[in-house]
Amino acid sequence: MILLKDCYHIATFNESMDELKGYDILIKGNRIERIGKGIELPKKSEIEIINCSNYLIIPGMINTHHHLYQTLTRNLPKVQDAKLFDWLTYLYPIWARIDEEAIYYATLLGCGELLKTGATTTTDHHYLYPESFSGDLLGIQFEATEKLGIRFSPSRGSMTLGKSKGGLPSDEVTETLEEVIEDSIRVIEKYHDDSPLSMRKIILAPCSPFSVDRDLMKETARLGRSYSLLLHTHLAETVEEEEYCCSRFGKRPLALMEELAWVGKDVYFAHGVHFNDYELELLAQTGTSISHCPTSNMRLGSGIARIREMIDMGITVGLGVDGSASNDSSDMLGEVRNAMLLQRVRYGPEGLKAREALSLAIKGGSAILNYTELGSIEEGRGADLALFDLNTLQYAGGLSDPLATIVFAGYNHETAYTIVNGKVAVKEGRLVNFPEEEIVRKVNEFSARLLSSCKE
Ligand SMILES: [Zn+2]
Repeated sequence: MILLKDCYHIATFNESMDELKGYDILIKGNRIERIGKGIELPKKSEIEIINCSNYLIIPGMINTHHHLYQTLTRNLPKVQDAKLFDWLTYLYPIWARIDEEAIYYATLLGCGELLKTGATTTTDHHYLYPESFSGDLLGIQFEATEKLGIRFSPSRGSMTLGKSKGGLPSDEVTETLEEVIEDSIRVIEKYHDDSPLSMRKIILAPCSPFSVDRDLMKETARLGRSYSLLLHTHLAETVEEEEYCCSRFGKRPLALMEELAWVGKDVYFAHGVHFNDYELELLAQTGTSISHCPTSNMRLGSGIARIREMIDMGITVGLGVDGSASNDSSDMLGEVRNAMLLQRVRYGPEGLKAREALSLAIKGGSAILNYTELGSIEEGRGADLALFDLNTLQYAGGLSDPLATIVFAGYNHETAYTIVNGKVAVKEGRLVNFPEEEIVRKVNEFSARLLSSCKE
């Protein structure tokens, strides 16, 4: 058991968005057992007590879009200022050289950053399966996430449309339809667990309209729906993608998805920057959701998504840090801040409030990934929590609103503690379950090796 004692401020994100002062939170197993003042401890119980008199406590945030392997290639000088298609075509041949051990450490790095910045659940969209890669990719990732203690709902990604068939990626990083479907069935049967607080939930995710063919989209939807899985892909990210779809398929990206039965409550798209009014209506009517990735959209100059309007129309929106080569970090609280600020560029200062931005990362994320027992601090709910120390330079002077201060102020975005599934994964600002120094050293080695192996 864990007792969070004398919490300075708890933002529950319950139905009425209650905020509490001076309460305790008792965690038993992987759930919140009690919330109250002066909770008496059961005698002879083994209990870890955390003094929270300086801490803000929020539900753990949920990252709905990422490509963890990209942590190995962030900030590459040659594509620091490139648009999406140029950026991708430069990086595909480099990514084709990533091996199993590199995936393990890239997963530790990206998930370590997420845990340290308040995320307790993440997905991943890994769509590169080069011929040289023979390992069990999701198995390697689960090994890393279970070691760190983060809740993980990855997708089995895929690309089948290589350059020789008119797609964007180099052929060496694509697969055949049969290979994708066979391996998707394997990972579902081996790993998928759809219990309410699952630590292993599989999603199916062909990469994007310019890297997969129609048959793959159709077959993936059929397979995913036969197992009641979520379906995910990139959509409407850039003007170039829109032009590609119009010239190749004679349709805008969302119309193509509609034709392929890729809309509905079990579908969510990453980005959704370039939707017109009709398309927003279609998303709302079909219950299709969006993972908003503001930092990536700014970094690649892709545009500003119409998130204010989506929220007002009842479209479910979550937040994603996107791949670390287009962000270039896995900073969850930083993503919340950027979401708030970017909507204000488009709609003015009321474009997105701090609580709304946090809600995207908390309630939007739990709704998208179907974690119905996460996303709020209430008795009986899953014990996934992020604790921020407000008694620091970065928040001093901002305590008139102890919740909004972590979005408006602050510069390192790090938690004091992060608790996932009732277990402490970050303690006093450090990862509990893996030496951070080893992750740094290994990732830098892999990154240097990757770059030296390809001719620039
Ligand atoms: Zn992405």
